Amino acid sequence: MSLFDFHLDAVDRDTAARAATFVTAHGSVRTPVFMPVGTRATVKGVTPAQLREIDAQIVLANTYHLFLRPGSEIVSEAGGLHSFMGWDRPILTDSGGFQVFSLADTVKLHDGGVEFRSIIDGAKHFWTPEDNMAVQQALGADIAMVLDVCPPYPAEESVVAEAVRRSAEWAARCKAAHTREDQALFGIVQGGVFDHLRRESVARTVEVGFPGYGIGGYSVGEPHELMLESLEPVAAALPTDRPRYLMGVGNPTTMLRAIALGVDMFDCVLPTRTARTGTAFSSTGRMNLRNAKYARDFGPLDPSCGCPTCTTCSRAYLRHLVTVKEMLGSTLLSIHNLHFLIDLAGKARESVLAGTYGAFLSAWMDGPGADDY
Ligand SMILES: [Zn+2]
Repeated sequence: MSLFDFHLDAVDRDTAARAATFVTAHGSVRTPVFMPVGTRATVKGVTPAQLREIDAQIVLANTYHLFLRPGSEIVSEAGGLHSFMGWDRPILTDSGGFQVFSLADTVKLHDGGVEFRSIIDGAKHFWTPEDNMAVQQALGADIAMVLDVCPPYPAEESVVAEAVRRSAEWAARCKAAHTREDQALFGIVQGGVFDHLRRESVARTVEVGFPGYGIGGYSVGEPHELMLESLEPVAAALPTDRPRYLMGVGNPTTMLRAIALGVDMFDCVLPTRTARTGTAFSSTGRMNLRNAKYARDFGPLDPSCGCPTCTTCSRAYLRHLVTVKEMLGSTLLSIHNLHFLIDLAGKARESVLAGTYGAFLSAWMDGPGADDY
């Protein structure tokens, strides 16, 4: 396989779930895959060595945040994101479109580009799709994403329609401006929860043509069921020979249900953010380590988990760290929560390869954890 080749390893018998492999300049990625989020070129509280230990295949970094600090010039001078952050496996940068539209107070949008203010010092910035490509090419991730327009939820149909049209035009401009051959550029589908706009967005983005497709504009506040209902025809309409990436979704139950619809890639800040509040994921649901019932519980965090945290630490110790606000508590819970999602995606892959994903999903949905996420 050569760079960015995508190979479908298996398709499930009863669902649309797929197992696939694609190749980047820093190694291959086996899907379905959960990608830890390293917004500012760090997965909060977790070292690259620890990420390798839990088999993280690929991590995310965020263009908006790195553009503001330290600036793409400094990352480029360091030799790109891989050497800057000491991570030699694949990296994906999102374009920052989502952050521009969700974090900034004042966003001025027109066909040429988008003007926004820094969340750090209020300084004004202006991005054309071409500017955004220059920043992402300087950052040097293995996968870059096009600059898209992300309307909020709920949004008027006319606003979403405009975002679909503009995103498609910007996707074509991004593709024309993108020249790095060791970096793949993925398109992004928008359209909110309007079926005809999702269909239009798929058609227009696929017409531009990309080696992979992000599915954006979900997990922005709409009900889960509505999201999954809307996602089904979108995933089915995307080319079967390209990876499909559901952006910003990493809730265990939603991830497994989206895999059944044919989605391959996921990312979410949920596992690390949840860890920093003292909460652990497990197959039986969420565990709040602040709870006094764990004070003398010297058993492992999750007896069925093989992660470094569960094989070395007791619930009582983790509860102590969380209670006295030691930073190691957040780190150990982040390692476990990330391992939980990485491992869940890995088990999903194994069951697709075995042709039993339907049964795997049913067992999860019938299990004690399904309603807790
Ligand atoms: Zn664990």
